[in-house]
Amino acid sequence: MNNGIDRRVFVAGWFPALFPKPEVELSGVAFRRKSFGHSPRRFIVIHGDEGTARDVLDTYMFDHEGVAYLVSGSERNVDVQGLKIDPNRMFSRVGAEKSIRGLNPGVAEDRLRAALDFLDKERGKALRQLVPPKGSRLFALHNNREYSVQDEIAASDATSIQEPDRPRSFFLCTSPADFEVLKKSPFNVVLQSKAEPDDGSLSRLAARMGFRYINLECAIGDYEGQMARVRWMEDRLG
Ligand SMILES: [Zn+2]
Repeated sequence: MNNGIDRRVFVAGWFPALFPKPEVELSGVAFRRKSFGHSPRRFIVIHGDEGTARDVLDTYMFDHEGVAYLVSGSERNVDVQGLKIDPNRMFSRVGAEKSIRGLNPGVAEDRLRAALDFLDKERGKALRQLVPPKGSRLFALHNNREYSVQDEIAASDATSIQEPDRPRSFFLCTSPADFEVLKKSPFNVVLQSKAEPDDGSLSRLAARMGFRYINLECAIGDYEGQMARVRWMEDRLG
């Protein structure tokens, strides 16, 4: 005899993308993990208030291979041990401390230390999920409201500005080989391969650990533009 639950389990076994696994916690932050096929590629939307990026990745992962992490909350900053932090600053102790001090003015030193110790303890587990197997890459999707490629030019090793009238849409990559491919696109791209200054972000972590990382920034609300750039890159970058 078959009932609804059996059918769902059966269907989920064949179509895992239709029935994403429950949330996972990375450094105390809840993410929805969505995987399809067996590609080593990793994808992430880390800021909860960047709904366009989340929608693009959610849709893209429906029929493309890889493992995606989509932050569950709807705020940019998250709570770790009762303190606010930008989740894209928690990948080093020095970056996390700066973010926590900035977002929690006057925080007591013992609470700060407890949160930093917690992040240190959890970081290895988070990185085992996020860092791609050797040779593969992590692709982070972001949205902005004011920030643009102009803010990154001075800190970049190389740039290709093909869309000067669309400065809020740009790729940032850490691998010179990936830059060589991306600079042939009709889009803006910057290369940042240095690990310093360490701000605790995924891009600096990637530079430090030596894995390939690509970040795509697009204006909030520009779903079509962001999806077009994801598809361009995914079709051309190994
Ligand atoms: Zn972001």
